[in-house]
Amino acid sequence: MTKQKAFLDTTVLVDILLKPNGRGIPAKEALKTFTETELPVYAIKEFKAGALGYFVWMYNKLTSTNSFVSSLAALQSISVTPQRHRTSTALEALKESAEELKKITNEKLAEKYGQKASADVSLADNFRESLKYRIYKAWKSRRKITTKVTQPLNCYPEKEPYEKRGLLKLDPTKCKPERECCLGQELRNNRDKLSILQATIRDLPGKTENTRRHVILKEIARKPKQAITEEYCRGLGDAYFALFCPEDSVILTTNISDHKPLAEALGKEAETPLQRIEI
Ligand SMILES: [Zn+2]
Repeated sequence: MTKQKAFLDTTVLVDILLKPNGRGIPAKEALKTFTETELPVYAIKEFKAGALGYFVWMYNKLTSTNSFVSSLAALQSISVTPQRHRTSTALEALKESAEELKKITNEKLAEKYGQKASADVSLADNFRESLKYRIYKAWKSRRKITTKVTQPLNCYPEKEPYEKRGLLKLDPTKCKPERECCLGQELRNNRDKLSILQATIRDLPGKTENTRRHVILKEIARKPKQAITEEYCRGLGDAYFALFCPEDSVILTTNISDHKPLAEALGKEAETPLQRIEI
């Protein structure tokens, strides 16, 4: 039987909050097919440390360079570094803002910036304004898209983005455990499940994050006396959702290839918004 409760992972949260004109549309449609939708705070934490951070990075580039061309150059230069996964999200940020720019006429730009302003400066300013609006809007909406926000993380302060010398800041993006992460006891109580996830990840195609996750799960499962650090908490990633998804819920994710094997190993289900709508 099709499940009536959804447990959102970070990818769906990102689509709804940051891509309202793109993949956010099917994601929202999918949510409507459930009677209950749950968002764990862990997804908010990942959202802030990841996608929202790339939007902020783009905003800060536009601010510090005050040039659209230089900001694109900065974007291009990270596309060849290990941070290249940021590129597509930052491009998405520009694309969504460009959609809004379509509505602005040259006349309006001249009114605002003067006839002699360079297009480079006015473009930078327009993109910056639009990004700032969307960053704050996304943050303010994060707890409103599901029927419930669940699984609070006591060691993670959910602080609003703030401005410092014209730049946007997102800290803290990590949990700040005194002795260990608040998930510690719960993880130790589920050592058998962690071992199952560990074995599943071992057999998945070797991605860097999977290798790290494998080590973390193995350590937690085998060394029950060791404190769970912030690094372990962060490294759980997809495994968090498989482990903590309630039995009567389905994990809703766009990253089905990573989530499905983990969910199924624990007798749970994962589904994409598109699969859900097609039913
Ligand atoms: Zn933590």
